[in-house]
Amino acid sequence: MKRKLYCLGNWKMNHLVQDALQFCKEIQNVMKSEKTELGIAAQAIHLPLLLENLQKTPVLVGAQNSSEHKSGAYTGEISPEAIKDLGCQFVLIGHSERRQYYGETSQNCLEKIRTALAQNLIVVYCIGETLQEYEAGQTEQVLKTQLNEGLIALLNEQKDLGKIVIAYEPVWAIGTGKVATPEIVAKNLKAIRNHLGSALDAASQLSLLYGGSVKPENIDELMKIEDMDGALIGGASLKAQAFAALFNSIDAK
Ligand code: PEP
Repeated sequence: MKRKLYCLGNWKMNHLVQDALQFCKEIQNVMKSEKTELGIAAQAIHLPLLLENLQKTPVLVGAQNSSEHKSGAYTGEISPEAIKDLGCQFVLIGHSERRQYYGETSQNCLEKIRTALAQNLIVVYCIGETLQEYEAGQTEQVLKTQLNEGLIALLNEQKDLGKIVIAYEPVWAIGTGKVATPEIVAKNLKAIRNHLGSALDAASQLSLLYGGSVKPENIDELMKIEDMDGALIGGASLKAQAFAALFNSIDAK
């Protein structure tokens, strides 16, 4: 089975209404692909605007986080039920900025993923090592632990594996301009797939993305990696032109 490819943007806490509208205007002519899903994860406040202005395009709209609770008395949180109800298709879970600044753990992620999957959202589970862990040679162990604690328990009970995407994002490469070399990405994506394979027969069906300073200038080299099924893109997703160029490169695989 051919795995789905993904070109996903993460706008983080960027863009005001006018910037978001401009992006939507400029991305209108992007073509639908049978191979590659295109999506933007935006601040919750911009989701209705994006859904409305991207409805004639193939661009999926997603949230950057969702609660482990379906709904209820959790002030300031984002309900996965409401994300789905609005018309969004996916959610990022466990982004390193959530882990680093908001104390999210892989155990929290497991609950968040469980609740988001129950809403039939596509979950993009983000994992990756810090610079300190990378320099100490702990990358593989960190990735295994993040998978074990945050995802593995859900794999065998999930019928539609198309709803689970894993993004490998070394923390030291996010927003730093320091892209991991293709060798590092290839090695770690292979380690992730092998580890998933120890828990799930169908691990070869899961789409694995890389994220960390991906740009139109480095994506072609990265997409040669066998296990790489697309990218999660921060800075370079803010402008429609760069994002469309990234989509074309990913779709060319
Ligand atoms: C990200 O936010 O997930 C990311 C990879 O950011 P950047 O592309 O800016 O490094």
